[in-house]
This record gives sequence, structure tokens and C-alpha cells, in this order.
Amino acid sequence: MMTPLNRSQRRQLEKIYSHMKSGSELCDPNCHKCCIEDVKLTYVEFAFLVDRLSEKEIENIFTKPRKLREDGNYYLCPFLNDAGKCSRYEHRPWVCRAYRKEPKLNACVQQPLREINQKAAQRILQLNNTLDIPPIFKDYTNPEMTIRDMFEVLFKKQA
Ligand code: SF4
Ligand code: SF4
Repeated sequence: MMTPLNRSQRRQLEKIYSHMKSGSELCDPNCHKCCIEDVKLTYVEFAFLVDRLSEKEIENIFTKPRKLREDGNYYLCPFLNDAGKCSRYEHRPWVCRAYRKEPKLNACVQQPLREINQKAAQRILQLNNTLDIPPIFKDYTNPEMTIRDMFEVLFKKQA
């Protein structure tokens, strides 16, 4: 069962995100190679990602057939729509905002080293830990928790 965010928590997270530097303006607008389903995130970010969606809508997103990335290495994120765009772009988590193309390296990298994004990550964790949620979701005791893991833990076990 999910604990939804209240208005204050939602606003705090929006504010933190608004201060991040994504650099995604360097990306090809049709590229979504980094939209793999196992991006990692905190509980508060997952709650924001599915904010205002009904349990049925969430269930539908996660139970539709998985699509493989072109290179076959990963399944694509369930929030990537058929047009190749993020269906929850304004709600996407930290990692999706911190990832960008790095022309000098000819590669795509996260941007956690940018101080401003590091600070955002710390503030998200602080906010996350103020929520009334089980310990498994706090303090990155489970740093491998991904979008699909969150769904499995919060929704699928109830079925
Ligand atoms: S949440 Fe959106 S931006 Fe992030 S991986 Fe999924 S589709 Fe891509
Ligand atoms: S960060 Fe890289 S893989 Fe992700 S959308 Fe931008 S160019 Fe594509």
C-alpha cells in the first residue's frame, strides 16, 4: 500500500527538482536510450512519479507487455509512451534529470558531480526520510530499489 504525498511534500520535491541542472537540452529529442526500467529512485520520487494516478492506472502501466530497448540489453521504462516520450516528464525522478549527453566524452553520463545536483540528491533523501514509510524505503538501506521494484513491493504483493 502506498502512502501518497501531501501537498507540502509534493511542493518541496518540485522545488528541489526545479533547482537541478539536467543538461538534457544536448540530447537528441528522439533519443530515449537511458529510459531503462530499472532506474533507481527513492520512495518519495516514486510516489511523485505516480502522483494522482489511480491504483488501477498504475497497475495498467506496469502490467502492459515489456518492451526491449533496440540493443536488446534492457527493458524500457514503463513510463515511456509509444511516441518515445516520457509520459510523466514533469514527474520524472532525480536520475532522469541528472543524466545527459556529454559531447566531450561522446557518451551519456549522470551529472551527480555537479554540486547543485548532489545537493538535490541529499535534499530528496532528507525529504524521503521525513515520510511515514517503512524502514526499507529510508536512508537508502536498499540502494538497488528501482521503479519496478517499488511497484513490486508496494502493489504486486497485495494481489
Ligand atoms: S521516468 Fe520518464 S525519463 Fe525516467 S526513465 Fe522513465 S520514461 Fe525515461
Ligand atoms: S542522456 Fe544520452 S541516452 Fe539519455 S536521452 Fe540523452 S542522449 Fe539519449
